[in-house]
Amino acid sequence: MKAPVVSGKEQEKNSETLMKAAIVSEFQQELELQDVPKPKPGPGQALVKIEACGVCHTDLHAVNGDWPVKPKLPLIPGHEGVGVVEKIGPGVTAVKVGDRVGIPWLYSACGECDYCLKGQETLCHNQENGGYSVDGAYAEYCLAAADYVAKIPESLSSVDAAPILCAGVTTYKALKVSGAKPGDWVAIYGIGGLGHVALQYAKAMGFNVVAVDIADEKLELAKKLGADVTVNGKKEDPAEAIQSQVGGVQAAISVAVTKVAFEQAYHSVKRGGSLVVVGLPHDELPIPIFNTVLNGVTVKGSIVGTRIDMKEALDFAARGKVKAQIETAPLSNVNSILDKMEKGEINGRIVLTFD
Ligand code: NAD
Ligand code: ZN
Ligand code: ZN
Repeated sequence: MKAPVVSGKEQEKNSETLMKAAIVSEFQQELELQDVPKPKPGPGQALVKIEACGVCHTDLHAVNGDWPVKPKLPLIPGHEGVGVVEKIGPGVTAVKVGDRVGIPWLYSACGECDYCLKGQETLCHNQENGGYSVDGAYAEYCLAAADYVAKIPESLSSVDAAPILCAGVTTYKALKVSGAKPGDWVAIYGIGGLGHVALQYAKAMGFNVVAVDIADEKLELAKKLGADVTVNGKKEDPAEAIQSQVGGVQAAISVAVTKVAFEQAYHSVKRGGSLVVVGLPHDELPIPIFNTVLNGVTVKGSIVGTRIDMKEALDFAARGKVKAQIETAPLSNVNSILDKMEKGEINGRIVLTFD
């Protein structure tokens, strides 16, 4: 797809029918900024004018084609999109024009299978994923499944809400399923976009927190955000440090993108504790069977969150208990942002903004 040549006369008409979008046409290539047709909402859909979209490491996995399940191509990534409903399609009752909504990774689910009926819609086999199986919010406009959008609380700006849509809900859910109780120690491995939000949820939920990363500036941020203990995995073995300093953690949440962090996270857990697997390096995790049995350790995968998890996660942010450290940037910077992410140079979250 090439950007169409636009004459001066047609400019005004085109501004109503075209939108700017960042597009992946081939894996491991730069995204192209193009003018593409503005989508029209079909039955059950809303057209959302995007105001902000966070850049998640999952977008980088999508661009690189890292995972066994590939995204559609061409693809508009982005699953932390927040904006205002501009049009609704036939049959939409969940939102109205003017509502501020978020379009998450769980773009839609079937609503009818056993998982959907049991409140486990993130496991639905017939789900769509925003910015992966369907186009996402690295664009001026994005279609949403009206029944599955997040309602953005009034007190939360679109920029502040964006990282909650994935980084927030994912880590809040991971802590919820970890089995840790207020007063317990938890460890967060990887203080990046997800991790720096995770540790704030952990504090707000009443846990004591060990923050682990391999970059000192991220551990500085962790301290500023309330981490009780910080460990640099390049300077000491985090599992040994955690076992000796706090007697092991009830839950270790790994949101890093390297296998070694998962191994260390596993060995940080105390008897009866759990490792919650959230980060998505394409790797195997070797687990000692004997220790797992004798120590009664649980290993759990956790994927984003349901609509009710989302509502709760947004409420923490709306009450000021959780706030991502954000740098904003225009959509045109997307390639340099992904490059910085690849090198581990982003402290907090970068949120794309739209004029
Ligand atoms: P990010 O790049 O912002 O953060 C990754 C962090 O890990 C960085 O701070 C980096 O310094 C740190 N790190 C690297 N090596 C480490 C090590 N050995 N020990 C400790 N920390 C280390 O990425 P992000 O946006 O936070 O996403 C993290 C991962 O989570 C990605 O793989 C992403 O796809 C995945 N993810 C999963 C879900 C889910 O539902 N399970 C949802 C969103 C993202
Ligand atoms: Zn994400
Ligand atoms: Zn379903």
